[in-house]
Amino acid sequence: MPTQKYSTPPPHVLIFPLPLQGAINSMLKLAELLCLSDINITFLITDNNHTRLLRYTDIPSRFNKYPGFRLEKIPDGLPEDHPRGSRYIEMLESMKTNTKPIFKEMLTSGRLGDKLRPVTCIIADGVMGFTCDVANEVGIPIIYTRTLSASCLWAFFCLPNLIETGELPLNGDDMDTPIKSVPGTENFLRRRDLPNFCRSGDLSNPSIQLFKSEGKENSRADGLILNTFEDLEGPILSNIRTVCPNLYTIGPLHSHLKTKLAAKSISSAISTNSLRKEDRSCIKWLDSQPPKSVIYVSFGSIAVMTRNQLMEFWYGLVNSGCKFLWVIRPDSVAGDGEIPAEVLKGTKERGYIVGWAPQEEVLGHSSVGGFLTHSGWNSTLESVMEGVPMICWPYFMDQQVNSRFVEKFWKIGLDMKDTCDRVIVEKMVKDLMVERRDEFMKSADRMAKMGRKCLSEGGSSYCNLDRLIEDIKLMGVKSKQ
Ligand code: UDP
Repeated sequence: MPTQKYSTPPPHVLIFPLPLQGAINSMLKLAELLCLSDINITFLITDNNHTRLLRYTDIPSRFNKYPGFRLEKIPDGLPEDHPRGSRYIEMLESMKTNTKPIFKEMLTSGRLGDKLRPVTCIIADGVMGFTCDVANEVGIPIIYTRTLSASCLWAFFCLPNLIETGELPLNGDDMDTPIKSVPGTENFLRRRDLPNFCRSGDLSNPSIQLFKSEGKENSRADGLILNTFEDLEGPILSNIRTVCPNLYTIGPLHSHLKTKLAAKSISSAISTNSLRKEDRSCIKWLDSQPPKSVIYVSFGSIAVMTRNQLMEFWYGLVNSGCKFLWVIRPDSVAGDGEIPAEVLKGTKERGYIVGWAPQEEVLGHSSVGGFLTHSGWNSTLESVMEGVPMICWPYFMDQQVNSRFVEKFWKIGLDMKDTCDRVIVEKMVKDLMVERRDEFMKSADRMAKMGRKCLSEGGSSYCNLDRLIEDIKLMGVKSKQ
């Protein structure tokens, strides 16, 4: 790729991620990747995330080495105690009403970029359509990004089709009926694998209403960045390109950044982008366990479970006889009660529980041999790149789709969706960690290798990042003319 030198200040990208843990994490990786190419970055996050990032991470000092990086904040219009992620429709509505006018004012008043450092490109999450309205109004090019799987995004794009053909709303009780109106997935996608809101019998459901216009919405931007790689979701990506031809598949971003930092001999020690306090004592515990003996259990930053579900998992894990490291967020279980003595005993012998873990580091630890996950996209990619097979218990959104791909398409794990029973948990943990361990390890290893190939020189994600950087630089040149 040709490189261009600038006599005027370099291009300046405003990155505005969806204000949730997974999206902020991956977009900070993108921000650093762009900083490495001498692109100025303003990273815009909502007030409450700004406070938490400053409290729990070292972002200001970590980004000190990039003088062109700035962190800015904007209100989301919600009260402090609003749960946000689990009530995302309210969050998006509030941002459309309250954040949009402030965003425009910040862009036009020079608070986000002035004459010396004009914003030359916006990268914003495509589910926040108001960012594109504002970008068009102020005349700044915008590239959308989505931090969920391409496979789920494609299912969103097909929602009008699913409605037109009568597959939605679902009728009848058989959740194993195959879905026909999501091209490329006919052989394995069932009703139960569609995003959970599709189970609503009512087409006026706010999530169906929001996501059914995703195809139109995403094609409004000058391009679409996806945190995935061609060898993982290739057939689906071909379909997405029919709607959004300018696609930048540059993932997995966390590994892409690690690779680039290593190539520049910059320390690539994993640093946290967590909105919660990490309990690093679990790394010490992992250090004392045999190789690949531990199943790591985490359901991400948003999922909640009932107390009954908690106990089914707990018994299943203890009864499996395997070692386990479990993240139980303080806000992740509804209700409380006594923990039976036999469960506590089994946990003391074989388990370790924390409130929040340094997950990338955990998945990369030699003692970890499996991941019981909610199939959030970041968690899935982090597991894929470490060659760690998964048991999937999806909660919402893309997780229902991702978990089906894990089992049936990539064959790197087991899908446990729609069940939560101690006997099944026990059996699946034994299958993954013992009985079918070699089979899963082999395919997970193969997938991790493919991921690394996409990130190496000449690989698809490597080349697409180069193309993105060149396109951003050209946007900068055009806006100066
Ligand atoms: N994560 C973490 N520590 C934990 C649990 C999760 O650092 O104890 C990180 C994880 O590495 C991932 C993100 O939080 O990057 C969760 O994003 P994901 O898309 O998997 O799920 P979500 O939280 O959006 O449901």
